[in-house]
Amino acid sequence: MARFFLVLFSLYLFLISESFINTGVKKVFKRFSIITLLILLGIYASINLYEYTHSNTMLPVTKPDNKSSINAALAPEKEIITLTAAGDCLMHNTQIWSGLQDDGTYAFPSFFAPVKDLISEGDYSSVNFETPMAGPDSGYTGYPLFNSPDAIADDIRAAGFDLVITANNHALDRGCQGAIRTLEVLHNAGLDTVGTYENETASHSFLIKDIRGVKVGYLAYSYGTNGLPVPSEHAYLFNFLDKKKILADMQELRPQVDILVLVLHWGVEYHPQPTKEQRAMSVEFLESGADVILGSHPHVIQPMEVIKINGKDKFVIYSMGNFISHQIGQERNSGIVLKIKFTKHFDSGETFLETVSYTPTFSHSYYENGKKQFRVVPVENTIEKIEAGTEPYMSKADLPVLKAVLKSTRSQLGETFQRPAE
Ligand SMILES: [Zn+2]
Repeated sequence: MARFFLVLFSLYLFLISESFINTGVKKVFKRFSIITLLILLGIYASINLYEYTHSNTMLPVTKPDNKSSINAALAPEKEIITLTAAGDCLMHNTQIWSGLQDDGTYAFPSFFAPVKDLISEGDYSSVNFETPMAGPDSGYTGYPLFNSPDAIADDIRAAGFDLVITANNHALDRGCQGAIRTLEVLHNAGLDTVGTYENETASHSFLIKDIRGVKVGYLAYSYGTNGLPVPSEHAYLFNFLDKKKILADMQELRPQVDILVLVLHWGVEYHPQPTKEQRAMSVEFLESGADVILGSHPHVIQPMEVIKINGKDKFVIYSMGNFISHQIGQERNSGIVLKIKFTKHFDSGETFLETVSYTPTFSHSYYENGKKQFRVVPVENTIEKIEAGTEPYMSKADLPVLKAVLKSTRSQLGETFQRPAE
């Protein structure tokens, strides 16, 4: 704006000089104003040139020679990623019925809605899904031979889960075809799977996720199939918990990833502690390349611990409990959303376990419009809502159960882990 006035001013001088009667004075004035105009134009031009070149350096540089140095300056020195995980998803008869809609289709939108935000805190999130989806022909059933409507896959995806663990003792409840169809349904819902495989090729490829430059690999195995046979021609289908195979798989996967997560379906059902063998095996797996062991199957929560191996913090949780089910009793309805953070330093290529924390959850059954419904609720948050009078399905009469769940979960799992500052 100031420059504009200067130019205007010199033009004004020039015009004034033109109107002078005395030619001598006019000549002097005219010369003076022309010189002024030229000087001002010069200043104007140099200011503009300076601004042009200066502002240009602030624009993104697209010259190929400068590209690598600019990218190096922008690339982060380290990256923190979050993995979330939940325990067993069972589908009992009552849960299946709860999803039956008036038009005969199924939907389970209530199941995970209250914990969606917790699950979604993970860059990548996993859950153990302990039922086949073999289609409607053989009927939908709960325990002991499960078969669930396909719709639950969409609800698992909508809850924020990315990965479904399919290696568990109910995987073959509807035979090989049921197990393979389950994978198709999960994949169609946009979910990854690990632990069972639709063919030989799939069974030889590792699940590796690249999360902002941090590579995470998942392996999953189950102690068994409830005695249901895996035909020899479909041996690729199921990952049995075979120590030799696990060690061989880890050896192959380890160099390809920054973080190796080993998911094990194991342990003694309804028992609050892992066995000595499980503890020993965990140390062996952590020493042999696993960074994390996520356990499931006992349907109750078992302890977690951080174990230092060759100066590195490694993590095991022996059982994450039931995430959703219609089993009876406080312990069998206790679960967690586990949250594990890792930091990768790109200069050294090293990755560290940063924090481990968890949110206790409760598998809650309730009635709505005379129909039994199910949902997973975060325990502390629900206690707060009851006390504030904002919880729609639970009252003060439910406080003792929720408080007992909170207490037992905290005593089983103990303190959260935070990597000490260097
Ligand atoms: Zn199981």
